[in-house]
Amino acid sequence: MSSTTQPGTEGKGSTATQTKIPVTVAKGDGIGPEIMDATLHILKEAGARIEIEEIEIGEKVYLRGITTGIEPSSWDSLRRTKVFLKAPITTPQGGGYQSLNVATRKTLGLYANVRPCVSYHPFVDTKYPKQNLVIVRENEEDLYAGIEYRQTDEVYQCLKLISRPGSEKIVRYAFEYARRYNRKKVTCFMKDNIMKLTDGLFHKVFDEIGTEYPDIEKEAWIVDIGAAKMADTPEAFDVLVMPNLYGDILSDIAAQIAGSVGLAGSANIGDHCAMFEAIHGSAPRRAGQNLANPSGLLLAGVQMMVHINQPDIAESVHNAWLKTLEDGIHTYDIYEEGVSKQKVGTKEFAQAVADRLGKKPEKLAPVSYNQATKKADIVSVQSTHARSAKETVGIDVYVDWKSGTAEDIGKLIEKLGTDKLPFKMLTNRGVRVYPGGLPETFCTDHWRARFLHDEMKAVTHTDIIELLNKFIEAKLDFIKTEHLCTFNGEKSFSN
Ligand code: NAD
Repeated sequence: MSSTTQPGTEGKGSTATQTKIPVTVAKGDGIGPEIMDATLHILKEAGARIEIEEIEIGEKVYLRGITTGIEPSSWDSLRRTKVFLKAPITTPQGGGYQSLNVATRKTLGLYANVRPCVSYHPFVDTKYPKQNLVIVRENEEDLYAGIEYRQTDEVYQCLKLISRPGSEKIVRYAFEYARRYNRKKVTCFMKDNIMKLTDGLFHKVFDEIGTEYPDIEKEAWIVDIGAAKMADTPEAFDVLVMPNLYGDILSDIAAQIAGSVGLAGSANIGDHCAMFEAIHGSAPRRAGQNLANPSGLLLAGVQMMVHINQPDIAESVHNAWLKTLEDGIHTYDIYEEGVSKQKVGTKEFAQAVADRLGKKPEKLAPVSYNQATKKADIVSVQSTHARSAKETVGIDVYVDWKSGTAEDIGKLIEKLGTDKLPFKMLTNRGVRVYPGGLPETFCTDHWRARFLHDEMKAVTHTDIIELLNKFIEAKLDFIKTEHLCTFNGEKSFSN
């Protein structure tokens, strides 16, 4: 392994003085309390200048009937300290429980999820000894906007939202991160061959912002083949930036192939607050047995120390942890006969790290954070994109219907078109089925009828209401409409 700089945060907070920085801590569920105690023990022994405010989140709170898993008063602590060290929590299955992680990220505006995935060869078994990459995942948008509907008996929908300001923020963060940590390349993963508008925007923003970073190599991959390449040759990548869902999946893969999900920490960074956590869950089956590996949370704690501008502590803890790995002192999940020297529990591992504070690894490359934190803070920049001139030119009307063939409903709906909004086509799951459909096409009860003038002339809301009134008269159950628009004269909807 080759790295000298690592994990990432933008180094906010006050300058390194003796002033204690308040930090909100949640011990979570399952293995959470054990790995948090281990992490806090090491940070304390390292002399971390932090003042802990503990809050309760997770299963107990959910089971008290608070579906968000967090008490309203806990938000006050988070808004006051602006720094959150969080152990994993258990989300009870079923019921109306919401994901606390998603809620926290969105409520606090934590737009960047930064996950370094590094291998520690030959001390932790991995097929990829040279892997040293960082995934910068967009954290607030995409399919995680959480907007879903059951629209008909057969069809459900989840909205994928990608915004220009959201894409600009995350892409700029990735480039700034690369500069700050002397990384050489930023790779964008997306799927704009299929999602030409949403992922197309992400790719376009990557190309635009990339021009501001001539010193950094840039490349873009379609996510499927990019993921295959990453799983095969992770050393070909350096910093990767991608929309939320791809980042969620790929960062778990990247962490796992580096050696273990138990070894990776992550930072969730916003303009006002930041949250630090292990990437793994609460592993309830391992709870209370002094077995769990605290490394993921500890490395998240290292990221936090950089963030609150205590790089000396971050460096000392990270190097002591590397030395512990190198000395073969391993928890059960990474213990391997012949490589490891001693199998230890959570507490003993934490003590072994504490005992090595001040030491550096001899074979693994030691880390250094001082240079990184001397550079300017990464701040998100407001989008300067000028608003485009928008015109509504047509409408897609979605209909719930199960009384016949595509030809039957097509004939019914085509008659409803008006002079301003003539009928164009009928699709089912995106496939044109009328006019000119094929009998082989499988159809559900979810139909999309498009009304659009060939010359894409502007229409008014009144024109649209007039058309929808005809649906009511025809007793057709329309369940959703989507306006078709042009922006600066450019067609801005899929076929
Ligand atoms: P998990 O990450 O808890 O466990 C997956 C596997 O990894 C298990 O075999 C577990 O024993 C092992 N493992 C995980 N962390 C380990 C550690 N530190 N040391 C040693 N072994 C470790 O995933 P899961 O079982 O799918 O989820 C369990 C619970 O955690 C669920 O309720 C889930 O909702 C929750 N979860 C929470 C978070 C979070 O709070 N950030 C993230 C993921 C899952």
